[in-house]
Amino acid sequence: RGLVVAIDGPSGSGKSSVSRAVARRLGTAYLDTGAMYRAATWWCLEERVDLADQAAVAAAVDVMPLVMGIDPAAPSVHVDGTDVGEAIRTTEISTAVSAVATNLAVRAELRRLQRALIAAESSASSADAADTSFSGGRGIVAEGRDITTVVAPDADVRILLTASEEARLARRSLEVHGAADAAAVEATRDQVLRRDRDDSTVSQFHVAADGVVTVDSSDLDFEQTIQAVLDVVEQ
Ligand code: C5P
Repeated sequence: RGLVVAIDGPSGSGKSSVSRAVARRLGTAYLDTGAMYRAATWWCLEERVDLADQAAVAAAVDVMPLVMGIDPAAPSVHVDGTDVGEAIRTTEISTAVSAVATNLAVRAELRRLQRALIAAESSASSADAADTSFSGGRGIVAEGRDITTVVAPDADVRILLTASEEARLARRSLEVHGAADAAAVEATRDQVLRRDRDDSTVSQFHVAADGVVTVDSSDLDFEQTIQAVLDVVEQ
């Protein structure tokens, strides 16, 4: 049976790059569930759906032709044949994504897809694997906000990757502005904190649930964080 590792954390905790690196080292698949919410947001904007219209957003996401590439060496996101890997990282999407991610019908649909991908990688058969270029059964590292608690509460390993607000803002600021000086951090602050506050209304990812191991990356560099996560996996 393939190993299932669930990792949750707030933005700027480094969970995407750390999870992907951990998946590469373990030889498992890698699922970025945040990318699915971002892709859903991109699709709704592309289809000119009013994001305030909950029913219309849910209906659009229901028929979204989403294909997640879960090879950690080259993760990809395609919607209706379009590679949206870069388009889903814009400020426009980051600003709008919470509106889509707080739609409960959207969450139900994306969680269903996430569970199917995880099941295909945790079982020996690849019959359900959505990405045929990466055969199933190798195990998976899945990361997001509600993986340890709702999507895969029975995962073999469950980790909450946290970092101090200061460390998270500095990392996001580096990603978005290419700098972490006072002005750049200030420009990032509102966006990051507002998104965390909005996301917190539907999933709780600041405190570890029962049985979930906390890894605090505030004082760890990238390699040390990967090692800390691998240590938990190997426990
Ligand atoms: O991790 P990332 O910043 O790419 O996530 C984008 C957004 O997707 C989050 O702000 C949150 O609104 C949503 N999300 C979620 N549940 C997850 C993963 C992401 O609601 N499991």
